[in-house]
Amino acid sequence: MELIERPDRAMLVIPHPDDGESGCAGTIAKWVAEGTRVLYVVCTNGDKGTSDPGMTRERLAEIREREQREAMKLLGVQEAVFLGYGDGELEDTWQFREQLVRQIRRFKPDVVLAIDPHRTAMHNHRDHRVSGQAALDACYPYARDRLHFQEQEREGLESWKVGTVLLWGSDHPDVVSDIGGTIDIKAKALARHESQLSRDPNEVAEWIKGWARRNAERVNGNGVSCEYAEIFRKISFRR
Ligand SMILES: [Zn+2]
Repeated sequence: MELIERPDRAMLVIPHPDDGESGCAGTIAKWVAEGTRVLYVVCTNGDKGTSDPGMTRERLAEIREREQREAMKLLGVQEAVFLGYGDGELEDTWQFREQLVRQIRRFKPDVVLAIDPHRTAMHNHRDHRVSGQAALDACYPYARDRLHFQEQEREGLESWKVGTVLLWGSDHPDVVSDIGGTIDIKAKALARHESQLSRDPNEVAEWIKGWARRNAERVNGNGVSCEYAEIFRKISFRR
């Protein structure tokens, strides 16, 4: 098990508002505090995530974007792009890949973070599978090779080689991030997604701490010792 190094620039491909916070907000808050620039690419607007009989999709999408912006502010994330796909409606289309490639070529991340599309131990939400796979494909080969989406080159966006993809929610994590210093801010950022909380914020904090503690227990030993951890599967590309 290897500790993750801090990149200069990190881009997250997030299927729904709140997935970034539950998946890797501890790592993001730590990196931002140490100088990393972070871009959130939020793929869907989360407009189906409610059981409230009086809620509409339009209103929920607005609420969830606001919650996402508040969570980002807490973490210190500098930049976000909301692609605005409907919740549950994400497809692995040419257009979606073009949008991800465009952000990679514009923002030039060293690291891209996404959800592991190949999780088999539990059912993986369709938007999670689609966004994870499209993120990997966008890094390699589409953003790397200039003749893909060549119209972007004419707009001044040059090809870009992403060095590393970190996948959260993986069955086979092989790198770890010690989030002992940022677990509280992670809990607070997650609690900003009020529309998605079925429990009070204190219970959410306990739940997220328990989850981070179990991650730490899983990886402690192999040259690693921490109380709270986020864990990822790392995929490296030659640069
Ligand atoms: Zn989700």
